[in-house]
Amino acid sequence: MPYSDDIVKRARERLQSEREQNDRQCRARIEAVYDKTPRLREIDRQLRMTAAQVLAATFRSSGDPTAAMAKIRKENLALQQERDWLLQTECIDPADLEMTPICQCCGGTGYVGAQMCECLKELCRQEQKKELSALLGPERGEFDRFRLDYYPAEYSSAIGTSPRRLMERVYREAVNYAQKFSPSSPSLLFAGATGLGKTFLSSCIARTVADRGFSVRYAPISALMADCEEETFRQQGAHGKTDACLRCDLLIIDDLGTEMTTQFTVSTLYQILNTRLLEGRATIVSTNLPLDDLQVRYSAQIASRLLGTFILFQFYGDDIRFRISRKL
Ligand SMILES: [Zn+2]
Repeated sequence: MPYSDDIVKRARERLQSEREQNDRQCRARIEAVYDKTPRLREIDRQLRMTAAQVLAATFRSSGDPTAAMAKIRKENLALQQERDWLLQTECIDPADLEMTPICQCCGGTGYVGAQMCECLKELCRQEQKKELSALLGPERGEFDRFRLDYYPAEYSSAIGTSPRRLMERVYREAVNYAQKFSPSSPSLLFAGATGLGKTFLSSCIARTVADRGFSVRYAPISALMADCEEETFRQQGAHGKTDACLRCDLLIIDDLGTEMTTQFTVSTLYQILNTRLLEGRATIVSTNLPLDDLQVRYSAQIASRLLGTFILFQFYGDDIRFRISRKL
């Protein structure tokens, strides 16, 4: 569940603002009770001072602290009894005079010990959802919008079935992958020509997996490399985006092969793919490149990672974007 620093920062800011709002509401509720029964305000003020009085009595150098403590205890008890009597006669629920934390587990801090509390995790999930929606747009990312009828139903001897049949299987496996995703799920390679739905299906997986509370980073290869380059060469000490690529539960790299390939991109891509594989984190890579070109364009190591350890999903058919535009 390692969300990027940006997402955690935004989620914590939201939690803090919700906590402050909750505190304001609690204080207003308590003040309203005090305004109705001012003696309660006075009793509570005196009771709050008890701790300080006890401390003062303990450290007082002269006199007998035992007697002083007994006096404080007696006064305290009398105040408690008067308070209980007032609450009863005025029909006031004692809970109305308490500050109620926004979350019972963490008290609104977002952490239980070193662990992130469920309340903060939920805010991270919502922030990530917003980020993905902004990135993918409203059109992409919902499995039920995937149109199998855009794929030819005619038998193709090249694949031994029809593209529609094949894509039906790819679609089913993508849904299954997203619904059962766990951080140790296998990595996938989506290969095939432009416009066959690779980006669409990978964005559906991104949204579904993110909705299930996992951290997902989705980026076209060119944007991913631009972020890494920026952090490596121009922002000394910054590594938030690169770290997010390495640590997120699911990394989706779209459009491999469309970027300007340099020595930097090749070594960065290898570092990302290899680190994630070694640490058992899932990655989805989609590419328009013929598989034989991977070694030529990148390196034998990258090709062997992609072809040897990723599960290959080969996309076939006509360019469905052409079909969509023709139907409009
Ligand atoms: Zn909490």
